[in-house]
Amino acid sequence: MGCRCRRCAAAYADPAKEEYAACLAIVDGRGEEAAVWLIDATPDIKYQINLLASVLGAHPTRSNRVRQPNGIFLTHAHMGHIGGLPQLGPEAMAVQDMPVYGAPGLVRLLRETRLWRPLVEKLALIPLAAGETVTLADDLRVTAVAVPHRDEWDAGTYAFRVQGPARSLLYLPDIDSWEQWPEAHEQVAGVDIALVDATFYSRDELGGRPPVAHPLVPHTLNLFADLAGRLVLTHFNHTNSALDTDSRERAAVLAAGAQIAETGQVFSL
Ligand SMILES: [Zn+2]
Ligand SMILES: [Zn+2]
Ligand SMILES: [Zn+2]
Repeated sequence: MGCRCRRCAAAYADPAKEEYAACLAIVDGRGEEAAVWLIDATPDIKYQINLLASVLGAHPTRSNRVRQPNGIFLTHAHMGHIGGLPQLGPEAMAVQDMPVYGAPGLVRLLRETRLWRPLVEKLALIPLAAGETVTLADDLRVTAVAVPHRDEWDAGTYAFRVQGPARSLLYLPDIDSWEQWPEAHEQVAGVDIALVDATFYSRDELGGRPPVAHPLVPHTLNLFADLAGRLVLTHFNHTNSALDTDSRERAAVLAAGAQIAETGQVFSL
């Protein structure tokens, strides 16, 4: 909000150029009715749920409404990851007993937030310990993986490892630095697809604001050079030149063998 950078100005002028905050859905389409979980409730959740409307299908009792997701896994308490929660409350989607998983500190924070009480009362908040696994189906499991990340409320930050019948995926949108996470290489090597923090490409993007801790993209590509084929970069800030299709930054990402996540991209597990 309030940004007049070239990329934001172009998107305000032409909404087709808008990009949503990073999010992932886990879809198990094998049953009669697809099961759908979200990772994170972003400020763009209404658009993201709309992208999933046909997968979710019709609400069982309310006309002209989609069914609520089967659950939501929250990575952490920052705006881009929980800013969509109010949309689930009584004024909008009005979910009932929806499981919401998060670190114990985050669950506590949500329960303490009086402003969101009407919403929180309709959620089934489920605290997940670091390393804990949730079984969504016999062959579909989600494990909470603790990562170091700026934490104003002692609420914790998780990445999620999703193990499907044939392949596995790591969803890691935010981390302060790879160096503060000794298991980084092992975790990325241990999955087939790793969607990782690509917030900033260069320090210059901060425009004089105090440093925001995220690894820079060239450093990430260097560090995981031997695993680049698994990397899918996500969680781009609007300042990141790799968003431009004709930029040398994007060319460098692709030349390294990594991918850039796209809205609607599907990874089969
Ligand atoms: Zn901008
Ligand atoms: Zn964050
Ligand atoms: Zn974030």
